[in-house]
Amino acid sequence: MLEYTYLDLPDMFYHVNQPDINVKNIDLVNHSLMRKLDIERIEDLLEFNENTFSESYMGHQFGSPVTLGDGRAHILGERVVDGERFDIALKGSGVTKYSRNGDGRAPLEAVLKEYIYSEFLYNVNIPTTRSLAILELDEMIDRGIKKKAGVIIRVADSHIRVGTIQLAALEGKDELKKVVDYAIDRHYPYLKHHTAKYEMFFDMVVRKEAELVAKWQSIGFIHGVINTDNVLISGETIDFGPCAFLETYDPNKWYSEIDINGRYRFNNQPSIMHWNLGMLGNSLVKLFDAEEEAIAVLQKVLDRFGTYYLNHWFMLMGEKIGINNYDYMSDEDRGIVLDFLNEIEEQKLDYTDTFRKLALGTLDFRPDYGEYIPDYELMKTVNPSFIPRFHSVNAAIELALQGNYSKMHELEKFITKPYNDRVPEYLKQPTDHNFNTTCGT
Ligand code: AMP
Ligand code: MG
Ligand code: MG
Repeated sequence: MLEYTYLDLPDMFYHVNQPDINVKNIDLVNHSLMRKLDIERIEDLLEFNENTFSESYMGHQFGSPVTLGDGRAHILGERVVDGERFDIALKGSGVTKYSRNGDGRAPLEAVLKEYIYSEFLYNVNIPTTRSLAILELDEMIDRGIKKKAGVIIRVADSHIRVGTIQLAALEGKDELKKVVDYAIDRHYPYLKHHTAKYEMFFDMVVRKEAELVAKWQSIGFIHGVINTDNVLISGETIDFGPCAFLETYDPNKWYSEIDINGRYRFNNQPSIMHWNLGMLGNSLVKLFDAEEEAIAVLQKVLDRFGTYYLNHWFMLMGEKIGINNYDYMSDEDRGIVLDFLNEIEEQKLDYTDTFRKLALGTLDFRPDYGEYIPDYELMKTVNPSFIPRFHSVNAAIELALQGNYSKMHELEKFITKPYNDRVPEYLKQPTDHNFNTTCGT
């Protein structure tokens, strides 16, 4: 039922080992994802094969390079459905070769948070790893206080990270070539026989990540920890530790208490992603024969990040105010977007509510459209009425920790219908905007 192409890579990229979990309860199951993956029972996945493994990688964490690896995750294998290949992984499933001093566990509250946020992003068309199920373990873990331990079953196009390629580049040209060729096979197979395939591979990743951040910015998502080990070559969002949504529109906002200087604040996300891709570019140099030429070629690709990002962001923001220019916004239209955002910022309005009201025609001011007639139907399909707000997610998690999943199920329902206006008032109310969030470890 599961395949293991990743294990054809050199040994340095993984360590084969088994999860160690004592499941008390299966708390949440994502039935639509189960159907998509053609899996009938979660229990079937929990009969582990011998070849489950953890991946090794490195990462720039808050700017500094560190050798890492899955310290609490196991890949159960690859599921292939209709020609598409997905990793199915457990997080919180016990110590691995890469755990260092960690206990290999995750608090139940953290995996519940990941479940809600990742499935929400999926439902607003933002590339992301997905959540198949939440398991509760028969174990308490020590995080200063005792906490319930949980496991998330996560589904990803793959877990190859910028940090995976960084680790390979440190090792040697042979290893680097093998893992990049593997990533091309898996995510960009049409580049395989191209003479400039490594340059084009880099261009594809730069573009995907630029568009990913543009999507985060357009919906108000703050990832919170965009370290290079949390950037996937597939262009999906991964790692929902300290993430949050902007509520009041303040582009300087960040919520993570571990991010002391706000490196990963909302309006820094594009430049941080650009920086991370620079790290990827550095790691690819060795694939080319002539170093100087390689650096020039890769730099040229990296320099496209800004254009990729802005074109996509303005397109998305144009749609949010009802201007559909397909793939290119004129300077004039861009100005309408920027002026409107300034107004929202000055009035300290709720980002999500303001755009929804605009779509519904109930906002008491509007962008300066001039002659342009905005497309309200379009606006209704891109401006959600619902986002997972800190206070409502927190309340649902608190209750779930006591064994009551009713609010969790209510959130699950709205997550799959984010453009539905019949959202209960308490789910729409903005949070008092001085909350902190880590929820990561
Ligand atoms: P993250 O902040 O989730 O990206 O994690 C950074 C690194 O720390 C990853 O390599 C994780 O696998 C590892 N890690 C985080 N928490 C634990 C834990 N409780 N036990 C072992 N390793 C962990
Ligand atoms: Mg991570
Ligand atoms: Mg994390």
